[in-house]
Amino acid sequence: MSDVVRVPEPTVRVNNLKGYITKDSILTLNDLHSIPNGPKILLVNKKIGGWAVITKDAHEMLLRNDGRKFSEIVTDENLNTIGANGFFVSLYNRGILSVNHEMIVREEDYSVFHEYRLSLLILKITNKCNLECTYCYSSSNMDDNSMNIADAKKAIDDALNKCMGRLIIIFHGGEPLLELENIYAISDYAMVLAKERKIGIELRIQSNGTMVNEDVANQLFERGINIGVSLDGYKELNDLTRIFPDGSSTYGQVMNAIKIINDKYSRPPGTLITITKHNVKHLPDIVRRFEKEGIRTVKFSLFFPDGRGNSNADLEPDPEELLTSYKEIISDIENKRIWEIGVETLLEIMMNMIMADRLYPCYRYPCGAGTNFMSIDVNGDVYPCDCLNDERFKLGNIQERTLENCYSSEPMQSLLRRGDESLEECDECPYQAICGRGCPSKAYWANNTLGTAYACECTVNRGIIEHLMWRLAESPTLLEYTLKWKNAAKFLMKVQ
Ligand code: SF4
Ligand code: SF4
Repeated sequence: MSDVVRVPEPTVRVNNLKGYITKDSILTLNDLHSIPNGPKILLVNKKIGGWAVITKDAHEMLLRNDGRKFSEIVTDENLNTIGANGFFVSLYNRGILSVNHEMIVREEDYSVFHEYRLSLLILKITNKCNLECTYCYSSSNMDDNSMNIADAKKAIDDALNKCMGRLIIIFHGGEPLLELENIYAISDYAMVLAKERKIGIELRIQSNGTMVNEDVANQLFERGINIGVSLDGYKELNDLTRIFPDGSSTYGQVMNAIKIINDKYSRPPGTLITITKHNVKHLPDIVRRFEKEGIRTVKFSLFFPDGRGNSNADLEPDPEELLTSYKEIISDIENKRIWEIGVETLLEIMMNMIMADRLYPCYRYPCGAGTNFMSIDVNGDVYPCDCLNDERFKLGNIQERTLENCYSSEPMQSLLRRGDESLEECDECPYQAICGRGCPSKAYWANNTLGTAYACECTVNRGIIEHLMWRLAESPTLLEYTLKWKNAAKFLMKVQ
């Protein structure tokens, strides 16, 4: 039996000494958390998110030889069972060992996450909505306002000026399809400008799915605009939260939209499920049924108490129930009962665990709010993320400031420091580099501070990250699923 798990070694772009262990190399154990389980032990380097599962015997051997030269260690009798060089290189590549006091990745290498590197622009094209979902964080209804086209164009011009060679634009609401003509005009403008500047561009709409018909799908398809729809489960569950103002069902219309989009785009849309107390226990069943319906990807968004959700705070799911559901989904993946549908939320965490470059801006510290993402409100106000749309986080107005100026503003710099409030619980947490210390917006709306993680999210993240480390170490099938969906997941970013 192997003494170290066969998880792929991280893709490391910096300080890469991979494989360079010579007989004179000094090998030291990094500062690690050790979590024992039977004959094995999980080692986690909390600073960089490196981890490995090894046997307790191998761990004891590492402790005995900490700080010695490789040539001194290989005389140790235990090494007969280990296969010395590969074992040590592997642990170095996973951030468990240092070679000559150098880690493969240092904390400072992630300072790039503090820089302005825009890749996603969210346009709150309207606050109007034809539904009245019980948790809507925008508290949208039909009396609300819409964005003027000039503001949207200014934001796009500005974003294309300073983005990272590729920009995703998401039309968000309210229900964006209520402003279709504006979306067409803005999309056409964005496409021309991106072409002129040789920037890759992707346009998306996050819709409630009730206004998609053949004509709309045709128009969007012709412009290359992708559609994602929100659906909280099968009919009985969806219609507890996602309803028309008179309380009637939206399910039939959303399923019809999925069929139309599937026919037009030759692939079904991605779906977004908001997790509440109603659907939390049913998630595995929902994912299995979605897979049977041919739905390609599903993303989970944890309910948080903002907007109408604030008056319905009891919708918060029980974190232990959510953990149980996630574990059942993972078990289903391992048994290939779930296979042809990408469960994005879990994929993002797993990719974060096996890649060092932290592609997913919601699972790193600081998160992508204001650095990778900017959100423009209907009145042109700029926020770091559509979830942080509070006066405290307002970075300026697009009519008066560039997005890069907004990034330099004090509210933004304060957010990057997490409001200067200490995150003591996260400082001690072994999973901080994978979790990213929780979403600041959820912390803010739940606790009115950035200094304490949202308890529900924290409990779930702690539990699921540790579980995934053990399972990825044991299950080649789980790893196969992660890599199978890797490319599909690569550019999936947040769509609340
Ligand atoms: S939010 Fe919770 S799981 Fe995430 S780093 Fe902080 S303590 Fe750890
Ligand atoms: S959703 Fe939360 S974690 Fe993700 S970018 Fe926005 S504020 Fe950050």
